[in-house]
Amino acid sequence: TVGCVALDKRGLLACGTSTGGITGKRCGRVGDSPLVGCGAYADKTAGAVSCTGHGESISKVCLARRILENCEQGIESEEAIQHGLSFMRRRVGNAGGAVCIDRKGNPGIGFNTARMAWAAIVRNKATSGINPGDMICFSE
Ligand code: ASP
Repeated sequence: TVGCVALDKRGLLACGTSTGGITGKRCGRVGDSPLVGCGAYADKTAGAVSCTGHGESISKVCLARRILENCEQGIESEEAIQHGLSFMRRRVGNAGGAVCIDRKGNPGIGFNTARMAWAAIVRNKATSGINPGDMICFSE
């Protein structure tokens, strides 16, 4: 899976998730990635999320939407992801990861898989850290 979230200078949010699916998948399987609210979700009043991991589990708990609901309740992006992943593991089992950016530009990167490669692309080099206009990506 390759996923990304972005916030532009006007406050618009976007997410993207692309995947080859899981090893040994059945013909015709629809994973979480194309399902709005499961593998990805963006809402300009809350933030943007892109997920990776066991697609059936992610879909059962609508993981991307759940993570954003945590953000809406004022939970920081990184913690919002961890809460979402813990809920998924408790409720349906299996692990995953996500990147998230809330509407104020606070980034979050989290996973309960063994590892998840990620990168933050900082477009505005005049400022340090991750800022509006930046993009966070992951690759699994
Ligand atoms: N979530 C993807 C799927 O189940 C797999 C992945 O994240 O690599 O289709």
